[in-house]
Amino acid sequence: MKPQNTKKIQTTLLTWYETNGRHHLPWRKTHDPYAILVSELMLQQTQVPRVIPKYNEFIMIFPKIQDLSKAKRTDVLRLWQGLGYNSRAARLHVLANIVTDQCNGKLPTTQEKLLILPGIGPYTAGAIMIFAHNKPAHSIDVNVARVLQRLFWNKHATPKEVDELAYALIQKSNNPHDWQSALMDFGSSICTAKQPLCNNCPLFQCCLSRGVRLAEANAIQKKEKQGKFFGSNRWWRGQIMKTLLLEQQPVKQNCNGVQMKAETLTKIPLQSSYLKNELYKKINKSGKKRFASALQGLADENFIIINNERIQLKE
Ligand code: SF4
Repeated sequence: MKPQNTKKIQTTLLTWYETNGRHHLPWRKTHDPYAILVSELMLQQTQVPRVIPKYNEFIMIFPKIQDLSKAKRTDVLRLWQGLGYNSRAARLHVLANIVTDQCNGKLPTTQEKLLILPGIGPYTAGAIMIFAHNKPAHSIDVNVARVLQRLFWNKHATPKEVDELAYALIQKSNNPHDWQSALMDFGSSICTAKQPLCNNCPLFQCCLSRGVRLAEANAIQKKEKQGKFFGSNRWWRGQIMKTLLLEQQPVKQNCNGVQMKAETLTKIPLQSSYLKNELYKKINKSGKKRFASALQGLADENFIIINNERIQLKE
């Protein structure tokens, strides 16, 4: 690592961010800790373009954490449809109730206290400190780690080394929010995992891995095999939750009287439960084992109740 380069790297990257950053992202336009939390949970393992409309809709229906706490869990899960990993939505709902009942509706303002809440891990707590409070924190995602590793090392660096450097850099920056955003945006558009644009990179002269990474990234790309999502346990869980959620009538307005978007209300029949046999009709023979395992997993996690061959969402 060459510490003498850090000032130049930070200045260059922040200048690049001013012109090229994703300032349009809705969660970049707020410092509300609750909105930042919602965006961070949605963005876990989900692509940005998929999150944007879901985030906007969620914040429109539940603009404050108190609104979310008053909602039925099934309505929260329904809004979450399309993002996957329903446990994130369920934990967010529990968290909203705790914060409303015990913290006067305000999320804690320290990383330590945030970590006590369900669904908030070190990364998310750090992200809230950075994006809501503009304070330096440990919060390193894959994009940030990759950019720093490439810029400052021409050999392998340990996660601890990268994390320490990330924290030192964010402490040095005058604006942790913008610095972290710049690193993330740079990693998603220039210094990408598979095809870093070294030839168009504003940091080319400072980078210890310039050029070298092109060959390496291409090799990774060749080796990589797409995990099979269709038919997987996660796919079945999504199918089951989607089917059950669509079987129940959604709320038509939130507690502030704000109307839900028309798209979320269309084509939803009113039955409140669903026969297991009906679901089975949609499944071919080979899928039944995975279906059963996904079903049991959802029951174990308290999302559904299986009773006398009937499946029902748990309220
Ligand atoms: S020169 Fe290449 S590897 Fe280095 S920061 Fe730029 S894009 Fe990434």
